[in-house]
Amino acid sequence: MTTCPKCDHETLVKTAELGDIPLDVCPGCHGIWFDKGELEALLKQSQGDVPAGFDLISPKPDVLGCPRCRTKMSRGGLVNPLLLVDKCEACGGVWLDQRELALVQKLLGLSGGAEGVRVERPAPAPAAPEEKGSPVLKYALALAAFMGLVLVSYELYVYFSPAGSVEREFSAAMTAFGALLLVGGVFGTLKFK
Ligand SMILES: [Zn+2]
Ligand SMILES: [Zn+2]
Repeated sequence: MTTCPKCDHETLVKTAELGDIPLDVCPGCHGIWFDKGELEALLKQSQGDVPAGFDLISPKPDVLGCPRCRTKMSRGGLVNPLLLVDKCEACGGVWLDQRELALVQKLLGLSGGAEGVRVERPAPAPAAPEEKGSPVLKYALALAAFMGLVLVSYELYVYFSPAGSVEREFSAAMTAFGALLLVGGVFGTLKFK
């Protein structure tokens, strides 16, 4: 779930409309988020070689927060000083609003219907059905819990037995493994009851 940096309540929707590059588009303002490398890949198609992780031209602090990592982005020129975009210096992603995208296309002579990149808000996900484990899973979890209990008990028995009375050495690793089985099994059983 990635929130649009401009619209508080919009979640970016994945689309694959620009060539084969998956983009995140806001259904509200139709801005587009390019993860690091995606914009470069797109520019490469029209401009030839574009350095990966390019720097903005005279970047200034931006009011928009990065939709991925929440860092405040920088606003500066992309390839051309007139082409102002928002870039996150932390994760390398770039945000283009709809107007900027049209400019990018014009200035760089990009083809491909980027102007038409629009997405519908996805229908709200239906309430998740109650999680029900299959009977096999339930038995497996219960069995894991039981095995864990046996394992831990046995290791504790070995641990507290007087030295030499038991053939085996106490193993912390086996105890931890048993405890893991026990806890995992119990939690799983409770979750899928
Ligand atoms: Zn938006
Ligand atoms: Zn970021």
